Amino acid sequence: MSYKPVITNVTKASSNDKEGLYEFIIKLADGTECRAFYHRFPEWRMTNISRLLKTPCPICRKDFICKCMEAFTGELEDQMIGDNWIEKTTAE
Ligand SMILES: [Zn+2]
Repeated sequence: MSYKPVITNVTKASSNDKEGLYEFIIKLADGTECRAFYHRFPEWRMTNISRLLKTPCPICRKDFICKCMEAFTGELEDQMIGDNWIEKTTAE
């Protein structure tokens, strides 16, 4: 699989600061959008990711629910932390 997701924007969709639960909308360079859930304690960790059904899946081309993005959780997490998306998105 040669697909490589590249995050171009992240927005915070919802959060429960007390519980450390966050929901982000992640935009990728190819137009794909994903919804990602995070838990921040003891450290930031992606607990779930799903593709928003606005565009077909860039991997399997289905336009309904698939689990392809789950295979890229590690890759996306690296960018979320490495490119400071979480920091930028959650800074008040
Ligand atoms: Zn797919």
